[in-house]
Amino acid sequence: MISNDATAAIPPVRLSLKNQFKFRCHPGISCFTRCCRGINIMLTPYDILRLKKRLGISSEEFLKIYTVPQLLEKTDLPVVTLRLLDDPDNSCPFVREDGCLVYDDRPTTCRYYPLGVAALSHQQGSDDEGFYFLIDEPHCRGFEEEKVWSVETWRRDQGVDVHDELNAEWTDLLVRKRSFPKSVELTEQSKQMFFMASYNIDQFRRFVFESSFLKRHPQAAETVERIREDEIALMQFGLRWLKGLLFRADEFARRQAPSGAP
Ligand code: SF4
Ligand code: SF4
Repeated sequence: MISNDATAAIPPVRLSLKNQFKFRCHPGISCFTRCCRGINIMLTPYDILRLKKRLGISSEEFLKIYTVPQLLEKTDLPVVTLRLLDDPDNSCPFVREDGCLVYDDRPTTCRYYPLGVAALSHQQGSDDEGFYFLIDEPHCRGFEEEKVWSVETWRRDQGVDVHDELNAEWTDLLVRKRSFPKSVELTEQSKQMFFMASYNIDQFRRFVFESSFLKRHPQAAETVERIREDEIALMQFGLRWLKGLLFRADEFARRQAPSGAP
């Protein structure tokens, strides 16, 4: 099962970037696409940007059709997972006989597989960047192949580096919230802000450009131009804004969200 909840699996062996493993996945293998059924894939902000663009739909439509809302364990943060089909195998909606329909834009978790990743501490002031582990499932025959990878070469080959870099602010936010005491709770408005800036980029764009947001949070002209033109820049701007909003004064959002919130 593909899962990026590190707490769901007890990592058998911690791997660092230089550790090696044997693995090869290809259309001729007997288990081909077996791992794309009965899965749990939490989506990241950048995953949604790629997938909704690939499918030619809005973020609202993508969220409605392809995702299931969840509360992320130990954080109380609203996240989404990929909605599986209601078929006997609970297949991913994008899996076909000949592979993944959205392969070039597949989610981060699919790119990592068969690696799992666990982040231990948020990046600021942390000397522990987390670790990797193999999700060694019996149905996956890829481990019987001879191709040797290091964690580092696998990440590069699968384009994980790019995804992780663009999701870094968001991942840090999750890990940081996870380290907060349980007694620190989110307001409903803060959760809505988190969800919008994380996942609903089209709503966030309207929030920035069609409300008093830019009056209340003045930005340099170049920044405004960049986030108007470039969706990735808008996403990263949103995640930075979110972090400032939620962690201001080192306290997690026991406060009112700004006026103009949807
Ligand atoms: S080798 Fe593993 S990753 Fe590849 S299709 Fe089979 S189960 Fe999935
Ligand atoms: S998105 Fe593609 S790679 Fe990921 S589970 Fe679905 S079909 Fe498989």
